[in-house]
Amino acid sequence: MCLTQVLCTTCGSNQVRPFGYSTHDVPRYYCCNDKCEIKTFMLEYRYKACEPGVKEKIIDMAINGSGIRDTSKVLGISKTTVIKTLKKKKSGLVKVNPNIQTIDLKSDAIIHVGLVCQEAELDEQWSYVHDKSNQRWLWYAVDHATNTVLAYVFGKRKDEVFKELKTLLKPIIGKANTQKIERKNLNFRTWIKRLARKTICFSKLEKMHDIVIGLLINKVEFGVNIHAI
Ligand SMILES: [Zn+2]
Repeated sequence: MCLTQVLCTTCGSNQVRPFGYSTHDVPRYYCCNDKCEIKTFMLEYRYKACEPGVKEKIIDMAINGSGIRDTSKVLGISKTTVIKTLKKKKSGLVKVNPNIQTIDLKSDAIIHVGLVCQEAELDEQWSYVHDKSNQRWLWYAVDHATNTVLAYVFGKRKDEVFKELKTLLKPIIGKANTQKIERKNLNFRTWIKRLARKTICFSKLEKMHDIVIGLLINKVEFGVNIHAI
């Protein structure tokens, strides 16, 4: 038989006794050191969130349609950790495809790098956060020639989101043709549909809704390494 000694994670004391299990069936311990700042603690809880690869798994599960609770249960980490990890990604997300961004050379000359878009087609996707009265609009533009997503915007009001998208597109396509088209069967639509269904379970926050779908578009359409942002 092999026994492992459990030490308090705060004071390092070995005066520790079992203290039941957490909601995720993780053993809890009680520190008997009177001077210790904490009383109960868990070993696995603390370590799992820090394990290499866990943060990446949180992101991958989110964009594959897993809700916060699912991810938390499967990975054995707290819901707070899942939410925090996703929220941290927000600042790194881009709304315009970086492969088609323009560079302003401090002069009137604007050059296009990578893809050059001649004609953009705009499409919208309606979904909701928390309940159906709280609409969430996703407008996106697709390059007609390559079917690549150029930019996307989220918002509460359909017309405002549309205006914002037009503004984003201006430096890319200038006066090029932008028109609303019939819905295209984009790859990510299937995914978003899945997410929209799952929305009922986890997207109680608009922020979270936008982050998850934003991560998906950044990864699948823009080719951004979302684990590195
Ligand atoms: Zn202690």
